[in-house]
Amino acid sequence: MIRVTVWTEFDKTDIPAPVAAAYPDGMDGCLGSILGGKDFKVTLANLFDADCGLSEKLLNDTDVLVYWAHSRHGAVPDDAVARVKNEVNKGMGAIFLHSAHHSKAFKALTGASGDLVWREIGEHERLWTATPAHPIAKGVEQGFVIPHEEMYGEPFDIPNPDCTVFLGWYAGGEVFRSGVTFTRGCGKIFYFQPGHETFPVYYQPEIRTILKNAVLWAAPSYRRVQLGCPNIKTSPEGIEGKL
Ligand code: ZN
Repeated sequence: MIRVTVWTEFDKTDIPAPVAAAYPDGMDGCLGSILGGKDFKVTLANLFDADCGLSEKLLNDTDVLVYWAHSRHGAVPDDAVARVKNEVNKGMGAIFLHSAHHSKAFKALTGASGDLVWREIGEHERLWTATPAHPIAKGVEQGFVIPHEEMYGEPFDIPNPDCTVFLGWYAGGEVFRSGVTFTRGCGKIFYFQPGHETFPVYYQPEIRTILKNAVLWAAPSYRRVQLGCPNIKTSPEGIEGKL
């Protein structure tokens, strides 16, 4: 069973009306519903929970963190950012969605600004699979259309990714590396651009397939117990179980 934590920045008692209209079950509820069944255990968390929903215990118990944020990046304290970064380095998978390109955690993990160009007029996006053999692209139709999306365009200030899985093209002519992977320490990271909060993008079947694939891909096969450079004995017993 893969333990997935879906984290959003919304205060559940104060969801903006356009977001509630697009996501009547909440954006976190919609994202969580992608991962039903016996193979996943989903926990919903948000910025207004204790420890801003990113407690050490919760992250320890998380195999894959799905992170959606847009306008409240500055409200996430630096110690929470450090916890996310450490857990990824230990092996936790992380999927950063849409405007999470500007989250403190994404920037800390990639070492880049995440800057891009953008426009919000509800134009359509065509999503091209650049690496069809990648597990995240499994079963995804080539060049499918997202009817309405916020445009994110190049240049996208990120390090060279391990893999560019998807490329986005917009009606206005811009292009974007819409789905990219990174490895940090033992952890796998996927950034995925679609998902503006006032468009019901996460209900679209192709998008749901991609996100489910991404969680399966990012789930760790190994998790370090601790980070650091311990002084170990020559005996094998000094190594086993500590790293
Ligand atoms: Zn947006």
